[in-house]
Amino acid sequence: AKAAGRNTFRFFDPAMQAALDASASLETDLRAALAQRELLLYYQPVVDADGCMTGAEALLRWQHPRRGLVAPGEFIAQAEKAGLIGEIGDWVLETACQQLVAWSGDAATCHLTVAVNVSARQFRQPAFAERVLQIIARSGANAHLLKLELTESMLLADVEDVIGKMSLLKSRGVSFSLDDFGTGYSSLSYLKRLPIDQLKIDRSFVHDMLHTPHASTIVRSIVTLAHSMGLQVVAEGVESREQWDSLRQIGCGGLQGYLFGRAVPPQALLFGHQPLVAA
Ligand code: C2E
Ligand code: CA
Ligand code: CA
Ligand code: CA
Repeated sequence: AKAAGRNTFRFFDPAMQAALDASASLETDLRAALAQRELLLYYQPVVDADGCMTGAEALLRWQHPRRGLVAPGEFIAQAEKAGLIGEIGDWVLETACQQLVAWSGDAATCHLTVAVNVSARQFRQPAFAERVLQIIARSGANAHLLKLELTESMLLADVEDVIGKMSLLKSRGVSFSLDDFGTGYSSLSYLKRLPIDQLKIDRSFVHDMLHTPHASTIVRSIVTLAHSMGLQVVAEGVESREQWDSLRQIGCGGLQGYLFGRAVPPQALLFGHQPLVAA
């Protein structure tokens, strides 16, 4: 180890060293990706109970020069650790706002909302809310069409701080969805303190709801409770017509999943007032 010099050291476990090298190269690659515009936003349709598109969720992709198209699960955590999530998050917000502006000029698309995923680190930044407002103002996007998706664990932090950020953004028209709902631990009575507009039911419940009565009971009670609290509900991961039928019966107002469309580049989205899939 000493031979490597005073300020460097080596692991003698080759597997561990290989993993370290790989993560170091991912970090270097990510920095280059930001500079070289290799990041892309794909958009997945969000539809109403009848299957008509009401908006889209922006999902990050990385067009890597050697690896091809990389999904966010493979690099978001790394970006957080490397301290790059602030920059990436700003880029995502900026690009999503530009998409809203591009859609605003056409009667077929001007009503569409865009949902943006926010990472925990990004949300914890003290000036997060001001930054979002700055990006909205600079782009000229309509804040009322922007939805930010947060997860439960992010909201369990300093509750006054969380409420402060959310309230400031809400006062300018931005709305909030609670992502992956049902997978966390918080009670709805806790969540009631937060200015949330919408719950997104995690796709694991949607996946199980036709096979296990338990899962469909959970979905039904989430929808009922959400409505009693004045919240909208979107079910994620809708892949079959049977799931759609059952969700519609339960009264779930929003749907998202492969049945209606995968995430695609914005120019590949199909617009219009017809349902994306015939009912
Ligand atoms: P998420 O927010 O829960 O997004 C939904 C994920 O489920 C997406 O995966 C989407 O492609 C996938 N999905 C949608 N419909 C279906 C379906 O019917 N069946 C199945 N099996 N999967 C479906 P994706 O794009 O790989 O994103 C994974 C996660 O990465 C997202 O989960 C989100 O947490 C995170 N993410 C994506 N974009 C961003 C971003 O811009 N910033 C941050 N911080 N995180 C992001
Ligand atoms: Ca999401
Ligand atoms: Ca989700
Ligand atoms: Ca998720």
